[in-house]
This record gives sequence, C-alpha cells and structure tokens, in this order.
Amino acid sequence: MTTKTITLTDALYEYLLRVSLREPEVLRHLREETAGMANANMQIAPEQGQFMGMLARLTGARRALEIGTFTGYSTLSVALQMPADGRLVACDVSPEWTAVARRYSEVAGVADRIELKIAPALQTLDDLLARGEAGSFDMAFIDADKENYLHYYERVLRLLRTGGLIVVDNVLWGGKVADPSAIDTATAALRAFNAHLRDDGRVMLSMLPIGDGITLALKLPVEPKI
Ligand code: CA
Repeated sequence: MTTKTITLTDALYEYLLRVSLREPEVLRHLREETAGMANANMQIAPEQGQFMGMLARLTGARRALEIGTFTGYSTLSVALQMPADGRLVACDVSPEWTAVARRYSEVAGVADRIELKIAPALQTLDDLLARGEAGSFDMAFIDADKENYLHYYERVLRLLRTGGLIVVDNVLWGGKVADPSAIDTATAALRAFNAHLRDDGRVMLSMLPIGDGITLALKLPVEPKI
C-alpha cells in the first residue's frame, strides 16, 4: 500500500507553521523556555497545541482532564479555549515541571481554570471516580508513561460523558510501533494500546500523523442490550 499522506520535509513543515500557526505570545515563551530544559522533546509541537485548542472548542469543553502535564504547553493550549468557569484537572508526578506550567498559567490568566494534581495519575483518576465524577468530563488528553496508557484510557473513558473526546499522544512513537526490531516495554505497550482501541466498539476512532501521532477516540452511547 502506498501512502497518501504527504511527506513533511523541513521546508514544508516550516511553510505549514508560517501560514497556519497563531501561537499566543505566552505559549511561544513557554515553548522557548521548555526547549532549553532536559526532556524538552516531551513538549508537544505548537501546531498540535493549536489543534487541541480547536478540539476544546469543538467539544465545548467545560471540564477537561490531562494525564501528563510536563511544563504545560498542552494544558495552556486547551485552558485558553475553555470558558472562564471551565476546569482542567492536570495530572503529573513532577513538582518541578508543573511549577513551570503554573507560572505560565498565571501569566496567561487561566490559572484558576487549572487544578494541578501532583500524584500518580491512576490514583487521581480513581479518586475522581470514587467521588462520583464518572460521565462528567468533556475532553481528555493522555500523554504520560506509555506502559500505563491502557489503564489511563479505561478510567478516562468512564470519566467522560457520552460524546466526550479522548486525545492520545505519541501513538506512532517515532515509527517504532511499526519496527519489529523495537521490543522495549514502551513500544510494546503502545502496540497493545493501539490494537485495543482498534477493536474497542465503545469509541469512534481516528489516528492522525500529527506530531508523533495522535489518536482521537470519541465516546459513543452504550448500545442497549437486547
Ligand atoms: Ca507526548
């Protein structure tokens, strides 16, 4: 099968950014500061942030979840597109990374929309479920340790309302998912995750070659049992 997806050369990617990126100054500053940090490759691409902001508008997200905040580029991209009374629960285990996210959220004027949870995300998600918040979120972004993606996904799916949207990052994993010689645990976990979603009738699915590959999974109504 030959690909119908255009090859993104550096020149074409720069063109794409030049004619479509509308990056707010606060996000540009955050991106530049993060670029100088260790693990800078964990930051999402700016056009992906802009796309996620559009998804927040499309879903009318008032309540959002984020699993893996890092320094907050995706967090801010989404929070800036939420209504003033919106709430984004942002999960991460790193006080250092999220301190950057918090600082920029204050500059952007959206700090009051973001509830940072510095704890293992599975624990935070279980707490939300235990508090009866199933079915109450409009949108979620999964972008933490790949070995736990399936566990995050199952919990997040319960926390979403019907018609809510899950965005999953790094699903193409630099191409390693399609490289049989790659047998590390993260790659294996992503392969299992991707195959699980392909066969999951509870969601409508679309995988897109944006950034490092993202999957959109829309929660469908539960079919009545006959
Ligand atoms: Ca990522």
